[in-house]
Amino acid sequence: MTAANRVNLASALYFIATPIGTARDITLRALDILASADVLAAEDTRTLRRLMDIHGIALEGRPMVAYHDHNGASARPKLLKALAEGKSVAYASEAGTPLVADPGYQLGRSVTEAGFMVTAAPGPSAVLTALSVSGLATDAFFFAGFAPTSKGQRQSFLRGLAEVPGTLVFYESPKRVHKMLADLLDVYGETRDAVVARELTKKFEEVRRGTISELVAELDGVTLKGEVVVLVARGEASSFDESDIDIMLKDALGTVSLKDAVAQVVATTGQPRRQVYQAALRLEKEGK
Ligand code: SAM
Repeated sequence: MTAANRVNLASALYFIATPIGTARDITLRALDILASADVLAAEDTRTLRRLMDIHGIALEGRPMVAYHDHNGASARPKLLKALAEGKSVAYASEAGTPLVADPGYQLGRSVTEAGFMVTAAPGPSAVLTALSVSGLATDAFFFAGFAPTSKGQRQSFLRGLAEVPGTLVFYESPKRVHKMLADLLDVYGETRDAVVARELTKKFEEVRRGTISELVAELDGVTLKGEVVVLVARGEASSFDESDIDIMLKDALGTVSLKDAVAQVVATTGQPRRQVYQAALRLEKEGK
């Protein structure tokens, strides 16, 4: 038995959100569309077939088209042709909501530019799921996707987001979470709250919450597996300005090493280590 109904669909592109873990996290309307679309397109056709099998939806001879990052240019004309013939096209990415760190953007643009309708069956996405469970403010947030993988680029990417007045949400590979946290510590300092949300909606779902430095310590030596979202709380306006930091540093530099002076001022002010370190280098240079 299937929960899906055959329904009449418009000649349109339907972006279908699919589960990010638990297969039953799919909407009834998404199942109806999958049961009824003339053409099914998917980032990974096997994944979509599996999902349809779980929910008892037969393909019944309907064409299934692979559409992913590497074949978009050649696959789009096929899908546009189907729309031009008055057919309905359903597109699902590998998991979650298409276009959210997933293919679909160029497809949606081409379809609207060709004058056809684009609509969506909304549903799961790791961004919103992670925000829901994070305990961080959700009134304003910024989805930053995947940060660059090289340290230098990642740090400058993070610096560019330092002033965003909302919770930051990043997708991250479990292999790179430690490096990402180390860079968050460098760039945003120790005291901002952060969350590592792993395997959401799955058996081994885990949400770790703490300040950035607490998470760095907690995950030291821990191997993470599965899928991960990293969130960082909005930065508070600092009550210490540059001249306060200079005064504290000058004081400390009179008695302890540069490294210890920086550590003391970071501990007192909660300012990013990098910023305090650079101020200390400048003061040291000026003093020579
Ligand atoms: N389109 C998807 C969405 O709407 O969330 C995202 C696709 S993106 C290629 C995959 C990334 O999303 C993963 O690397 C991870 O950062 C995040 N993600 C997806 N599912 C997740 C889950 N169940 N738990 C935690 N993060 C998840």
